[in-house]
Amino acid sequence: MLEVGPWRIESVVNGHIRLDGGAMFGVVPRVLWERVAPPDDLNRILLATRTLLAVHQPSGRIVLVDTGTGGKWPAAQAERYGVESTPSAIGDALARIGASPGDVTDVIATHLHFDHCGGMTEWAEEPYGETRLRFGNARHWVSARHWAHAQKPTLRDRASFLPVDFATLAGSERHKLVAEGAASTIDDLSWQVSNGHTPGQLLPRFLGSEDRDLLFIGDLAPTTAHLPPAWVMAYDLEPLTTLGERLAVYEQLRDRDMLIAFPHDPKVGIVALTLDEKNRPQVAEVVG
Ligand SMILES: [Zn+2]
Repeated sequence: MLEVGPWRIESVVNGHIRLDGGAMFGVVPRVLWERVAPPDDLNRILLATRTLLAVHQPSGRIVLVDTGTGGKWPAAQAERYGVESTPSAIGDALARIGASPGDVTDVIATHLHFDHCGGMTEWAEEPYGETRLRFGNARHWVSARHWAHAQKPTLRDRASFLPVDFATLAGSERHKLVAEGAASTIDDLSWQVSNGHTPGQLLPRFLGSEDRDLLFIGDLAPTTAHLPPAWVMAYDLEPLTTLGERLAVYEQLRDRDMLIAFPHDPKVGIVALTLDEKNRPQVAEVVG
């Protein structure tokens, strides 16, 4: 596992999805994006769905960031998005550190799109009945702004929300809403909020030693191919906000190196990012 100050961190692939390449790159023409993300014969590109597993050594806390599509998908719908889930992947990663799902202390849902939060829940008894939390002892963190949005998405983004993934959290004592501007109560972790992709996306920053932090960048930049500031997804509700938020992240690289963990890159989970001589973000090293 990667060492970041008091944290031990691993990017775990919990499945794959295939989404339309045009939608994934917005106004960027296919002749440019197909070089870095080759499409299949339905114009879809392969994306991983990743969970970040982070262990806080001093306290023993076990944190999961995002949980993928989960295992509740009916086959016909799964085919449309090329959903291939490996629900056991998170449990296997926990087992490798001698832990079980009941030992997870914190689950962070950056946002409630189905490919980020479906794995928080599973069928309680029989398929298509009640759901229950998979990590039943964990606090589940979602920003208050995003939670409110997910209850009433717009016509444009409502297909991305499946209430079956998160409805069971409502009213649960395990549900922790992060108020706007609130500081994190998890040691050595701070919140960064992004609003371009969806309102109130909650991005955890794992605070390391004085010169190295790790930011889980969520759908602010789903893959390494999305590092150029203007390569913004058509899914984003406010693309210009995304562009500005990316530039703000890159601005932070002037002061200190940063590790960036991606939610969807099919090949790499975590990279060290630097600026080149023209101040463009550049992958210096793949570290996870
Ligand atoms: Zn999303």
